[in-house]
Amino acid sequence: MKKVKKIIKVDVEKCTGCRACEIACSAFHAAPKFSVANPARSRIRVYANELTNTWVPVFASEFTEAECSGHRVYTINGREQGECTFCGASCPWRDLFKEPDSGLPLKCDMCEDDPSLKEPWCVQVCALGCLTYETKEEEVEEEEEKPGEMEIGLDTLVKKYGLKTVADTVARMTKGGN
Ligand code: SF4
Ligand code: SF4
Ligand code: SF4
Repeated sequence: MKKVKKIIKVDVEKCTGCRACEIACSAFHAAPKFSVANPARSRIRVYANELTNTWVPVFASEFTEAECSGHRVYTINGREQGECTFCGASCPWRDLFKEPDSGLPLKCDMCEDDPSLKEPWCVQVCALGCLTYETKEEEVEEEEEKPGEMEIGLDTLVKKYGLKTVADTVARMTKGGN
């Protein structure tokens, strides 16, 4: 079967650390859309180290239940960077790529929308061309259905609070008409 692969290319040398991408991503994913911007809710975060003149956009990737058994440390321009700095996982090791209020995992969804956007928002606002977007059609095997964002979020809540508390809360909200 044919599938359209969506690719964001990152030219790290063009990144100025302006963080427009963080603002745009969080605003697009706000409910309602563009009602508020909060980089802590962004699915792209820009790692910045002004001492080494290093800015690296990192995209939120898969949720993981456990941290890695070993960590990696990178040296750039002669300085060691923090552990896990360039990892995109929503992981128990750190608070990055989690909804600040609920702790639910965040993941880049390429700004899926209906109708589709010409380009994801982070790419649209990246004025200096650090981020560029392209699509390519490729033949792939039939895919197993993966859990969606809502299933992953519910699973996280159940693990954190227990099934009964989550079910009681949903029942209370339903009763209240929310
Ligand atoms: S908008 Fe572009 S240049 Fe600005 S921080 Fe994001 S990736 Fe870097
Ligand atoms: S943040 Fe990433 S690299 Fe670090 S422990 Fe978690 S999954 Fe591993
Ligand atoms: S592609 Fe969309 S969801 Fe992903 S980081 Fe960019 S703005 Fe956020």
